Amino acid sequence: MPVSLLGASEIRRLAADLDVTPTKKLGQNFVVDANTVRKIVQAAKVEASDRVVEIGPGLGSLTLAILETGASVVAVEIDHRLAARLPETTAAHGVPADRLTVIDADALQVRDLPGEPEVLVANLPYNVSVPVLLHFLETFPFLQRGVVMVQAEVGERLAAPPGSKVYGAPSVKAAWYGPWRLAGTVSRQVFWPVPNVDSVLVGFERDAESRGDEELRRRTFAIVDAAFQQRRKMLRQALSTVLGGSAAAASEALEAAGIDPTLRGEQLSIDDFVRIARG
Ligand code: SAM
Repeated sequence: MPVSLLGASEIRRLAADLDVTPTKKLGQNFVVDANTVRKIVQAAKVEASDRVVEIGPGLGSLTLAILETGASVVAVEIDHRLAARLPETTAAHGVPADRLTVIDADALQVRDLPGEPEVLVANLPYNVSVPVLLHFLETFPFLQRGVVMVQAEVGERLAAPPGSKVYGAPSVKAAWYGPWRLAGTVSRQVFWPVPNVDSVLVGFERDAESRGDEELRRRTFAIVDAAFQQRRKMLRQALSTVLGGSAAAASEALEAAGIDPTLRGEQLSIDDFVRIARG
């Protein structure tokens, strides 16, 4: 039996059946358009041999599009009613039970993913999209690539190069793991309920070599946070607390790393921040 996708009316029927009224708190905007979920899966280049992790499968529309390729899915869903119903929905749409594993949990708390999936595909809950992405990339080194749908503003930030207007702490932290790219735009009309923001797809690929160990990552991220908390200040001022306790000590540390202390954080790349953190 071939895998079939969920239609708009079936999604609404499923929600009514489960007594689910989509909540803002959980970022519940469900995709009700088959072309859109297929577009996400194509952008992620999912193949039959892939093991995919999906964060927030909801009623299962994107899940089924991933499963349609022949890939297997580990799906992490915080809403118990949605997590409990997903296996039934996918079975009714032609998916053998052994291709889906559901984890009924908060994605921010998950520390173990069965089968070590190498691909992440998700329509992320907007309120926690960046923390969830960073948590997954940090906790699961086997995750090699992915495509996620996020609020346009967040996606542009994640893919922003140094020096651009929207470049910020999330851009630098995301770049620790590898390059990010914008992979398409999505109309707000494909969601139920219709959100009041636009969405984009962003893709990432993990670098073959890690930039360093956990200690270096923590130190780099602390420096990044300090640099962007006072984004209009020169680095020697903004980093005085984290680099030696004074502007003079920070200047010295920055010069030792080959960075001009009068620059601002928004002008530095991830490599520059790592050089500062290495000391
Ligand atoms: N994938 C579905 C789709 O495209 O129609 C639903 C996407 S909806 C934007 C986000 C989903 O993430 C919801 O099902 C919501 O319940 C779930 N969610 C919200 N916060 C979560 C968290 N911290 N951990 C796991 N799932 C979460």
